[in-house]
Amino acid sequence: MNNGQYLCGNCGNELEPDWKFCENCGSAVTIPSAPTYTNPPPDPYRPVIRPQVKPQVVEKKSKKWLYLALGIGCVCIICICLLVVAVAGYIYYLQG
Ligand SMILES: [Zn+2]
Repeated sequence: MNNGQYLCGNCGNELEPDWKFCENCGSAVTIPSAPTYTNPPPDPYRPVIRPQVKPQVVEKKSKKWLYLALGIGCVCIICICLLVVAVAGYIYYLQG
């Protein structure tokens, strides 16, 4: 893997991309071709443009339904727990 690395044509020393001359032998650096980046690194200074489309509204709606379902589920679990406790207490009362 020689990703983004340049080698001196004279001595084979590893070169930084912005070097004009080899640090090892001092020969002028000639970059044969620009490195081909399939995925260019993201520019931190460039704001990320996000497409503003409808899905945001849909997401909000689905989240609301999710909370509603969670609430109903919690209530159901609490009801079942209360029922179990009540039945267990009634059985205990009958036996005692
Ligand atoms: Zn060199």
